[in-house]
Amino acid sequence: MTTVVTGGSGFLGRRLKLSKPDWTYISSKDCDLTNPEQVKQLFGDTKPDAVLHLAARVGGIKDNIENQADFYHINTMMNTNVIHQAYKAGIPRVLSSLSTCAFPEEVTFFPFVEEEFFNGPPTITNFSYGMTKRMLHVSSCAYREQYNMNYSTFCPSNIYGPEDHFGSQASHFVAALIHKIYNATDGDIVEMWGTGMPLRQQLYVDDLCKIIPILLEKHNTSIPLIVAPNENLSILEMTRTLVEQTGKNVRTLFNGNMDGQFRKDGSNGRLLELIGPFDFTSFRDGVHKTYQWYSENK
Ligand code: NAP
Repeated sequence: MTTVVTGGSGFLGRRLKLSKPDWTYISSKDCDLTNPEQVKQLFGDTKPDAVLHLAARVGGIKDNIENQADFYHINTMMNTNVIHQAYKAGIPRVLSSLSTCAFPEEVTFFPFVEEEFFNGPPTITNFSYGMTKRMLHVSSCAYREQYNMNYSTFCPSNIYGPEDHFGSQASHFVAALIHKIYNATDGDIVEMWGTGMPLRQQLYVDDLCKIIPILLEKHNTSIPLIVAPNENLSILEMTRTLVEQTGKNVRTLFNGNMDGQFRKDGSNGRLLELIGPFDFTSFRDGVHKTYQWYSENK
């Protein structure tokens, strides 16, 4: 099966290429997905059997809050073009990445399940981004219903690992933490955003790279399938785990600003029903491998 991967130059795309080198990886330089003509040409030229749609305007809390219009516009344009032009080109399979950020801030219970997807607004700190992910799901379902296409979606929790964006505005928590701790020297006090209390599911990127090919083959429903590990750790616990592993004598100080949602853990029950038992990488092991990688490749 020939597969085109959008977002091929991103964190997840670059990592996926190591285990799936035969797929075709597209960056914005190859095709600006906000431009319908370029997307039409891409699918016409490559004629794939499947599209794995990973491209997105992604960022941390601050970036999301300050650039809501960009998140809205770029993601809406890309998602609309990918789904519509794939349909027009007769591509029978599109698997798109959403995010657990698209789930409502308020849910009836944790870990939340897929049925909660539309039951309330996403958190204000990623409202635009979350809503564009919901619309990507709506469009996948619409083309499935009306045109009988196998277009489906999955929702990863926070992802981290080698190749992540370290020390940039696009950094997520684990990458930003690794960058800060790596650059700290003994005796330093490292300032951290927030209170350290929020809980997060951190998915090791290579786990997701093992799961995606299975989803491409098997996930043929209109369920926004949650892909998340079992562990749900506080920011403080994760920080301590990393500092401990590095053996550095640094103290961390949480500044109390911009905590984001307190918890947003999703259930992986449906995922495991589909793919069978999966041995998720523990945060301790994953952050160790990531720190090693960063030390060697920074
Ligand atoms: P990333 O590193 O920021 O990569 C984004 C990708 O999108 C890049 O390849 C970028 O291409 C491409 N892109 C952006 N604008 C484009 C445009 N106009 N035309 C064509 N391509 C464009 O993102 P990621 O972390 O790999 O995320 C991959 C997917 O997982 C996204 O859908 C994201 O929403 C989802 N996700 C990520 C996380 C996470 O923690 N990282 C968590 C949950 C879900 P260039 O390199 O050429 O700019």
